This record gives sequence, C-alpha cells and structure tokens, in this order.
Amino acid sequence: MLMRVPPATIRTQVSVPLRLPDGFVTDARVFSFEGLVDGGEHLTFGLGDLAGARPPGDYDGIPLVRPHSECLTGDVFGSQRCDCGPQLREAVERISGSGGFLLYLRQEGRGIGLYAKLEAYALQDIGLDTYDANLALGHREDERSYVAAAQMLHALGVSKVALLSNNPDKARQLRRCGVNVAAQVPTRVHLSAANGRYLAAKARRGAHTLDVELSAG
Ligand SMILES: [Zn+2]
Repeated sequence: MLMRVPPATIRTQVSVPLRLPDGFVTDARVFSFEGLVDGGEHLTFGLGDLAGARPPGDYDGIPLVRPHSECLTGDVFGSQRCDCGPQLREAVERISGSGGFLLYLRQEGRGIGLYAKLEAYALQDIGLDTYDANLALGHREDERSYVAAAQMLHALGVSKVALLSNNPDKARQLRRCGVNVAAQVPTRVHLSAANGRYLAAKARRGAHTLDVELSAG
C-alpha cells in the first residue's frame, strides 16, 4: 500500500568541503528542506558527482543513498558502544566514490532522543539488550519513520535508489512512500570491543543483514 507523502521543497543548498577526522577529503552539496512532516532539521549531503549544483532529477544512473540516523555519541565522539561512527565514515566514502546522497536524519537513539538513549545504555549495562531497554523506558523498539527521508528524495527528484543499508525496515518504509529501491547494498560490519552485543541484537531483533556471531560479547 502506497502512502501519501506530503511534498517538501529544497530550502537551501550550499557547497561544504569535508575533511573527516582521519583526513579523508571530499566535497558535499548540503541541502535543507521546507515542509518535512516531523519538523526535524534533516539534511541531505550530495556526494561524488552529485556534490555539484544541478537541477533536481538530473542524474545519470541510480544514486547510492544512505539514510543515516544521527548518533551524537557515535558520529561525533567515536563511541564504541555502537557502529554508527564507522558506518557514517564508510557511507561518506562509498557514496563519494559512486555518486549519491547521504540523508542525515535527526533521530537520535532510534528515535527516542539522546537522553533516553543514555538511559537505555544504563539498562543495557544491567543486562537488557538495545531493544528491550527501549521498551523498558516506555518507548517502542524502534521509533524511526522514514517519511521525511522519502520527502527529501522526492524534493531532489530522486525516484529510484540503490539503498546502502543493512536495515530491511528502511527499504520497506521508503518503498511504501513511493521510492523505488532498486537494490539494497549492505554496509560492512564494524565490530569493536564494546559493540558486539549491540550488533548481535540488531541482527537478531531488527533482522539486519549482519554477519555477526550471535554469541558475541
Ligand atoms: Zn550510535
């Protein structure tokens, strides 16, 4: 069943040269939007041959697209409790190589917010997994909606994507919002000393396509 997705428009687009902490350098075209359903300040980064200014919809081939959920602790501070930082790093480089869009979605902690995510970490330290911890706090296992992500893609004139993600829910929701997910491209597994249990829970409970030892951690 297709869902009716309200239209959004591009509000601003500007070039931002990037230098990641490990020295990787690339150019980005950063887009903001008007009319996103949840009022979040979500961003799209055009990378590779889509880092330049161009009219919406003027693309050769199918862009590689990663919807990345904000994770302050992982993306900015290198927290090893999750794999968000390395996934973001991988996505920027891969999309820069093939051309596409990184959707940076402000939905911290699978949508429950930063403070609640830290509370969920505290519960994980006494034995709950990442999903049960959210439930114990009165949240759903995963509260993320990708309607705003679909709105951004529609505003950019992107109707067909190769989706860089291990999460089947992202493909399912985007398809429901009228985005043609022509291929799903897996990300690498980024195992650290502290995220084994977290990755195993994602594989087991979220049906992520991760080749992780389920007994890890
Ligand atoms: Zn994270």
